[in-house]
Amino acid sequence: MVTALPADRHITYQLQRRTCGKASCRPCQNGQGHGPYWYAYWREGSRLRSGYIGKTRPASVHSADTASGPVGAGPLAVSV
Ligand SMILES: [Zn+2]
Repeated sequence: MVTALPADRHITYQLQRRTCGKASCRPCQNGQGHGPYWYAYWREGSRLRSGYIGKTRPASVHSADTASGPVGAGPLAVSV
């Protein structure tokens, strides 16, 4: 599924790990999860929307636009 990112909104990008929740999934069971993958966040009115981007760092990403990750997670290294 490809999420169309709005061109007229301020988009925040975050590099995050996700868990799929499957009991048979080893990376999730040991707490590692999948990724990290890039996600986009933006506001539509009062709603916070998000879109999955993937492993590739978005070309429009600047460090100033990249919000810090979840509290306690610490900075994630970006390896290309
Ligand atoms: Zn999983």
